[in-house]
Amino acid sequence: MSTSTREARPQIPATLLKGQKALVTGANSGIGKATAIALGRAGADVVVNYVADRASADVVVKEIESFGVRSYAHEADVSQEDQVVSMIGRMVEEFGTIDILVANAGLQRDASLTDMSLAQWEKVIDVNLTGQFLCAREAVKEFQRRGVVPDVSRSAGKIVCMSSVHQVIPWAGHVNYASSKGGVQMMMETLAQELAPQRIRVNAVGPGAIKTPINRDAWETGTAQEALLRLIPYGRIGDPDDIANAVVLLASDLLDYVVGTTLFVDGGMTLFPGFATGG
Ligand code: NAD
Repeated sequence: MSTSTREARPQIPATLLKGQKALVTGANSGIGKATAIALGRAGADVVVNYVADRASADVVVKEIESFGVRSYAHEADVSQEDQVVSMIGRMVEEFGTIDILVANAGLQRDASLTDMSLAQWEKVIDVNLTGQFLCAREAVKEFQRRGVVPDVSRSAGKIVCMSSVHQVIPWAGHVNYASSKGGVQMMMETLAQELAPQRIRVNAVGPGAIKTPINRDAWETGTAQEALLRLIPYGRIGDPDDIANAVVLLASDLLDYVVGTTLFVDGGMTLFPGFATGG
């Protein structure tokens, strides 16, 4: 695609999230990185969480600061309760509060069922599901303490859970990952129901196939790409920005009445494309 076509793409207004404080977990790579940058471009101050590779987190911080907002990198493993508690505690000290949590950190440890170790199962559940629970719990304590500040946002806080099409599409060879994302869906919906009366909005984004390091095998070679594209009616693999834009909108007051929803951003992958010609 030519540069001029790319430049013609619509941009989210730089004031959409002005004055809001956001935390993105796993923000030094892929979707989290694009999301942290997009939140900064939309006017939010952003904490860039990472678990390894400080240098790549610093690059994200620099880019966010170039929009004239505040940012810093914070090392924490989201599956560790004490680290999550101190991450949110520091954010409240440094930024005064938290308005937006993007619970994005995630990983895969793939194996067929009989080859999967308990350690592989537990690692994925601990990071992808328990990590989101811990971050949501600590963020909500602060949302509840502060309440709604009408000049900042119509809600007391927003959580966007990074789920996956695999919250609804079973995935052979990835039972740990698919179970974690199925869990994220029910956790998100339960929290949304529990917290909506307090004006806290909880939603999820369900990416399809997005070009990031997590799924390099699926898009790196021509053959792999061809197989992947057969699963995507819209005919292109997603970019991290496709997801980042969805997160920014979900976190903004433009979508203030959206509560407990998963927004699939997947080029139609959840439309069962195999049935377009079969069935
Ligand atoms: P990625 O590997 O580029 O990014 C994952 C990030 O999570 C990295 O920064 C990694 O360091 C971080 N992380 C891993 N364990 C962590 C921990 N314990 N504590 C803190 N951070 C940790 O992959 P990505 O594709 O950008 O994935 C981001 C999210 O999007 C994940 O939740 C993933 O399941 C989801 N997702 C991705 C795709 C896709 O096609 N790429 C599709 C559906 C869902």
